[in-house]
Amino acid sequence: MRSFKYESLPSRVVFGAGTFATVGDEVSRLGAQRVMVFAGRPERSLADRLKWQLGPRMVDLFDDVLPHVPLAIAASARARARDLQADLLLTVGGGSTTGLGKAVALESGAPILAIPTTYAGSEMTPIWGLTEAHRKTTGRDPRVLPRVVVYDPELTLTLPPGLSGASGMNAMAHCVEAAYAADCPPMIRIMAEEGIRALAVALPAVVDEPHDLAARSEAFYGAYLAGCAFAVAGSGLHHKICHVLGGAYNLPHAETHAIVLPHAVAYNAPAMAEAMRRIGDALGADEPALALYQLAGRLGIPSGLREIGMAEADLDAATELVLKAIPTNPRPLERGPIRRLLDDAEFGRRPVTHLTPAM
Ligand code: NAD
Repeated sequence: MRSFKYESLPSRVVFGAGTFATVGDEVSRLGAQRVMVFAGRPERSLADRLKWQLGPRMVDLFDDVLPHVPLAIAASARARARDLQADLLLTVGGGSTTGLGKAVALESGAPILAIPTTYAGSEMTPIWGLTEAHRKTTGRDPRVLPRVVVYDPELTLTLPPGLSGASGMNAMAHCVEAAYAADCPPMIRIMAEEGIRALAVALPAVVDEPHDLAARSEAFYGAYLAGCAFAVAGSGLHHKICHVLGGAYNLPHAETHAIVLPHAVAYNAPAMAEAMRRIGDALGADEPALALYQLAGRLGIPSGLREIGMAEADLDAATELVLKAIPTNPRPLERGPIRRLLDDAEFGRRPVTHLTPAM
């Protein structure tokens, strides 16, 4: 018999090619007069286009954006927002830029209008993250959930194929972990499976032809669904591994997700037969872990963690960090099989379900 708890999250989503031109109207709907814009230096031209739309309502452009929201940068952005009495935080960029806006909202309570330009999905979640001395702290707070999100796939046309594929697999990971989360409400599971379906088809098309706007739109749609699913269902072993590796060994976020995902799915497979069937259906494949591995290869993503900076000598210590993370996960965490999972990910081997510690 069905039984679930579901709290829907309040945000307005405006999705479609050309919607960037409506940002000024969205700002008016919110009644904001003192808009602080966050955009990394590479996204400067988008900030300039916003100035044109917002006029004197745009009181600042904060462009000191770095991955994983270093606490010192968050502190300087918070001070600036206080001085300016910003009444709207407008972020345009990837997950790092959205994350910086969230760090400010966490303190000031000002609403966020987010304009994502990657497939990370942070714009749909009430999850914040801050990094200090290589340790990333995350938390949930309704104040950081963007009030309005404008998805314009035209803004993603410039995202290079390598980043598009990796970022898209980050979205895929949100969907896959939601699809197997034990307490995922049914409507979110439907969104997660639809996200898997959309991303599996769109990402190869995006990487083959980065200027294919229809493919970009479908990939963005998948990323939107991924963010919605991640926001409600939370995460398990896969996200914990990526969190640990990204924080302790400074690995690039999206690529780490893309490489680890097939191995995390293989680890969990024996404990989630029904979810594997649903994920397989959405991927159009009999073996989900292998299909995800082949998809990452098709997208040109490095196959092993060692190619993105993970030293083999650190795998034992990384195993201990993962075991300490205690995620909710379909299969209990077992030291030997987790160590073997990391070894497979390090060397980019085909994903295998390890039940024993021997290597
Ligand atoms: P990112 O924001 O660091 O961007 C990566 C690079 O892509 C940057 O150099 C950026 O300038 C460039 N870029 C962005 N959009 C572009 C475009 N359209 N064209 C060309 N270049 C573009 O990377 P990301 O993967 O988007 O975000 C990763 C961060 O987001 C991590 O810190 C992660 O923890 C966080 N995240 C948070 C959540 C959450 O719910 N809180 C969810 C997912 C990711």
